[in-house]
Amino acid sequence: MPLPAEALSVDGGCNCGAVRYRVAIPALGDRPLHPLAPAEDPVPMPFLALDHCNDCRRATASVLPAWLCAPIDMCSVSLVPASSPTLATKAAAREGQPEEQRGPWIPATDAFTPTPTPDNTDHLLKNYESSPERWRWFCSRCGTNVAYTATMPEGFPSMLDITLGSVNRSHLDGDALVPERHLWWDYGIDWIRRLATEGYGALPIHPDYRIADKVTLQKPS
Ligand SMILES: [Zn+2]
Repeated sequence: MPLPAEALSVDGGCNCGAVRYRVAIPALGDRPLHPLAPAEDPVPMPFLALDHCNDCRRATASVLPAWLCAPIDMCSVSLVPASSPTLATKAAAREGQPEEQRGPWIPATDAFTPTPTPDNTDHLLKNYESSPERWRWFCSRCGTNVAYTATMPEGFPSMLDITLGSVNRSHLDGDALVPERHLWWDYGIDWIRRLATEGYGALPIHPDYRIADKVTLQKPS
């Protein structure tokens, strides 16, 4: 299911609140097309994908990672300073809890860069070059894997692939951010591919951690 055609803003971040991002997605007519997609099957950006590759499964520790893949120039970020006096005592800052002191919103290109300027290192966003010219970005306080950056062909901004699981829950309810394609299918694990395409079949479903209680799904009429 593709993104809605109207403009929308998507927010998210790491589990402790030290890294917050925002993606300003323009209306469909103003979205750039993926430079590597064929003209007869254009892919407007951002797009949403499930990812079966081995690297991303391990790096995100999720059996089936999902991504919001956006040109980095649509994205901005606000970071808690590493020098913050509350840094050591701060517990998880989930939605609805007061925010701690944080830096201003800045272009993501100024933060998700492997070569930051000396005056742009007072934060907890760290990176790991998992393959040449490919970086994974994570919060060094809570460990959330937030994003992946990759360069694009000459003349196009880098992509900021954001872990869909780090997007605020309010955006995930409803159908606005439903993955629309599978990537790296040929590298997938059989049972994960079955779950992703056929659903959960006869697996028992529990409402929470209490495995004594079961949920009976109603088929849509
Ligand atoms: Zn964090």
